[in-house]
Amino acid sequence: MYRTHNCGELRKSDIGKQVTLSGWVQKIRDKGFMIWVDMRDRYGISQLIFDEQRTSKDLLNQAKSLGREFVIQIHGEVIERASKNQNIPTGDIEILVKELTILNSSTTPPFTIEDNTDGGEELRMKYRYLDIRREPIKKNLILRHEITQQVRKYLSDNSFIEVETPCLIKSTPEGARDFIVPSRINEGDFYALPQSPQTFKQLLMVAGLDKYFQIVKCFRDEDLRADRQPEFTQIDCEMAFVEQDDVLNTFEGLITDIFKKIKKIDINKFPKITYEQAIEIYGTDKPDIRFGMEFVELNDVCQHKDFNMFNSAELVVGIVVNGGNTFTRKEIDKYIDWIKTPQVGAMGMVYLRCNDDGGFKSSVDKFYDQADLKNIAEKTKANKGDLIMILSGDKNKVRSQLGALRLELAKNLGLRNSEEFAPLWVVDFPLLNWDEEENKFHAMHHPFTSPKPDQIDLLKTSPSSVKANAYDLVINGNEIGGGSIRIHNKSVQEQMFKCLGFTKKESEEQFGFLMNAFKYGSPPHGGIAFGLDRLVAILGGSETIRDFIAFPKNNAGRDVMIDSPSKISKEQLKELKLKQDL
Ligand code: ASP
Repeated sequence: MYRTHNCGELRKSDIGKQVTLSGWVQKIRDKGFMIWVDMRDRYGISQLIFDEQRTSKDLLNQAKSLGREFVIQIHGEVIERASKNQNIPTGDIEILVKELTILNSSTTPPFTIEDNTDGGEELRMKYRYLDIRREPIKKNLILRHEITQQVRKYLSDNSFIEVETPCLIKSTPEGARDFIVPSRINEGDFYALPQSPQTFKQLLMVAGLDKYFQIVKCFRDEDLRADRQPEFTQIDCEMAFVEQDDVLNTFEGLITDIFKKIKKIDINKFPKITYEQAIEIYGTDKPDIRFGMEFVELNDVCQHKDFNMFNSAELVVGIVVNGGNTFTRKEIDKYIDWIKTPQVGAMGMVYLRCNDDGGFKSSVDKFYDQADLKNIAEKTKANKGDLIMILSGDKNKVRSQLGALRLELAKNLGLRNSEEFAPLWVVDFPLLNWDEEENKFHAMHHPFTSPKPDQIDLLKTSPSSVKANAYDLVINGNEIGGGSIRIHNKSVQEQMFKCLGFTKKESEEQFGFLMNAFKYGSPPHGGIAFGLDRLVAILGGSETIRDFIAFPKNNAGRDVMIDSPSKISKEQLKELKLKQDL
């Protein structure tokens, strides 16, 4: 028997017991006459002790031959520690070793396997199996496990059934490129990996399953962006006979339950704002509402003087930094430099200090007198001691720039507390957005999303004004889930494809199977999918999803551990009838 106990469970009450443990050598402290070894497994760390007085010479020598990450088995007696360690649950005891077996040796690991490691991210990914031995990563994977178990339990308790849908499918446009798999036995034909099980879950509603869910891998061949994974996991859900509010209520229940069970946090507010409001107030459709700093539009109080930058702008908009008058000139200049960086792209920033004596000092004092500045301050509801930051320019650009500045300020001011959670629904997205380059409409969510019920007719006359029956769940500035009520009517679906520039033949070829199904009594239905990786990361207090995925890809989409993607052999290429240098 390899072990009677694990390395995390022995306590004071076990003193006197003879135990057998197996695990890895985490740390060795060799004082010559006395050796301590920290022995680790998934459950914790137990301290082993070997000493000249109580341990045979051979055993002591054997202990001296140990190295980091050796796999060992020991047999010994649980004794009370002379100096206790309050930081670990096994800190009251140690094990006086009587027998030691080296089960396997280890070469020196390329980085230290400790909470704060010296290994860079690329190295840690290359040796992911060693990285997972570290407590923080292991803890994240356990958290992920707990969340998925809770999701399964909640949904299944609420009559959802888990159904697996295929991975080898044909292209479903969800806004990204497909990963393609050549078919050997159907020469010249290709499968696509699902960007999501969207059409299948809708077909399951036609099939009458009523409530479906799946914790499912999705694949999107997108251009590289920080913290995106080409394969990621969704909690994918669909329900029949529902309207938007039914879906929102059901999944508020799920999210509330996860926070309660996993984090012991009660979340009871899910404010709802429209897409338009989100853009106007926060400059983004995924606002972080843990803090205020809402946008105030200032055209009417700024465009009456000789200041051309404001006068020529489509939008003049500001935010108030509470207590920001303490910022030094240097600090303000740093923000100005920051917003001018290419990634933000603003032209400049105007600031207005609200002094404690009731006066104002601004970077545009040349153009605006105290009365003007007071007007601006009043409009923004700024108080003495505050700082107002103002951007101007093209509406869309300036909103996203100020949105970025708002987040940067909040980060620096410590307002983005990772243990505080502020969810909200963003609703009423536009159905379509116009792609200038391609000169055509794209579905903002996906082509199966229904227009608002009273706007279906507008699809024919004014498609760009149509609002979608779609919704996103946002938590702390991250889009955690998105979904919609679907089109369940063949002719509306045909009209939608037409708006998206599909010919009848193209839509028939690609989605005939779905529209055909709609002919056989398709119920009204809708659903949502949550990004599991991001949800887990947020619950884990981080925004780096890679740390919550067992074997993630790096930012270049590569698995540096198994070295993939990689070339395939000439034989494989031949078999698949693929040419290498096309
Ligand atoms: N399939 C959609 C997505 O992956 C989610 C949904 O509409 O349910 O974003």
